Amino acid sequence: MKLLAMVVLFACAMRAEWKAGAAKVPITPDESIWLAGYAARTKPSEGVRQAIYAKALAFEDAAGRKSVVVTLDLVSIRPLTADVVARHVREKHGIARERILFNVSHTHSAPIVGDVSSYQSRMGSYFDKQREVIARYTAALPGKINAAVDQAIAALEPATLHFEQGFAGFAVNRRRVGRRELPGPVDHDVPVLAVRAPSGDLRAVLFGYACHNTVLGDYEVNGDYAGYAQAALEARHPGAVALFVEGAGADSNPLPRRSVELAARYGATLADAVDEVLKAKMKPVGDGLRAVYETVEVKFESAPPESELEKQLSDKDEYVRQHAQRMLFLKKRDGRIPDTYPYPVQAWRFGSEMTLLALGGELVVDYSLRFKEKYGWDKLWVAGYSNDVFGYVPSLRVWKEGGYEGGGAFQFTSFPGRFRESVDSIVTAKVDEVMNSLR
Ligand SMILES: [Zn+2]
Repeated sequence: MKLLAMVVLFACAMRAEWKAGAAKVPITPDESIWLAGYAARTKPSEGVRQAIYAKALAFEDAAGRKSVVVTLDLVSIRPLTADVVARHVREKHGIARERILFNVSHTHSAPIVGDVSSYQSRMGSYFDKQREVIARYTAALPGKINAAVDQAIAALEPATLHFEQGFAGFAVNRRRVGRRELPGPVDHDVPVLAVRAPSGDLRAVLFGYACHNTVLGDYEVNGDYAGYAQAALEARHPGAVALFVEGAGADSNPLPRRSVELAARYGATLADAVDEVLKAKMKPVGDGLRAVYETVEVKFESAPPESELEKQLSDKDEYVRQHAQRMLFLKKRDGRIPDTYPYPVQAWRFGSEMTLLALGGELVVDYSLRFKEKYGWDKLWVAGYSNDVFGYVPSLRVWKEGGYEGGGAFQFTSFPGRFRESVDSIVTAKVDEVMNSLR
């Protein structure tokens, strides 16, 4: 009996080690705005199907170290926004850069943020007006994210953390669409971090999936399947905030797709997968959150010489013409076209039970499977689309196969060419270094 009392006391003491708090702030546009993600759209948004959010989940460990995850129903986040929020969080809360983690769901039904130049010709006569609308939206965004972070930190209360992974099966390797002979790996894991009050009530749930949020592609603002999953979980668990983390699923699409019914159905499937994990036995997460954030330079193939770019200005392919325009603009403005990019690698180790590895860009699934095999399927959570979403990051296999994720997509960016073959080994070496530093 005495032993049982001691065990209970010890368990209570364990429970008091973490504090956590969560908050959400809507970032739904209040005017018609161009939606990001698809080159084929011909007009700005025509309505709102579903509110979109900036959400924040703050942790404080027993040593008093605070850390915040920010999740956004947006297609991308760039330093333009992340740096402003990181500065606010440092100045107001004394939280260093490695302890704030940004992830976007990559919903293709949310506004463009930041640079509109690559959309200019697609927007046509809408461009002048939309440039102003998007500038307004972009300028207001950091304040809304800051508010979510401030509220999450203000809500810090004693909490328990538990981690486990489930499964959901609707992600399909999209490179096999049209090239059925390709191997087509997928990552169907559904990582779940449950944040509960000492009473056991669910206060927040951080969950992930590795698949493009591209069920829908029309003119209504919404969070796609991840938006429906978050809404379903919040409806099923009143008072809890559900935060979605996009995994390394750059080569996965939800298939079949293109109906609201399917977006809602995949959202419900993902919410069911999360609930199945929440109802089952989950591993308690011990105290202490260690964090690392570093960048490593990845290299691009060289841009064509200026004479070649000049020639491309009259290419029959619209996208070749636009890319050449952007390269010549950079050359004129900066005197050079960049040949490397600082790739962000962030890792958070929670106790000894779980590590959240958050990598930049649109990361293909090979990286997720490789790192989980190396560092433990039950202990590693691999997120892509974190901190800086600048374009695709192919593995060596995908780079060799070519195609859109292998290099073709660079045409839609302000980068000179696809990454060099070394991108895989450079990213992998940096991840190994960061993971080892947390051991
Ligand atoms: Zn994408």
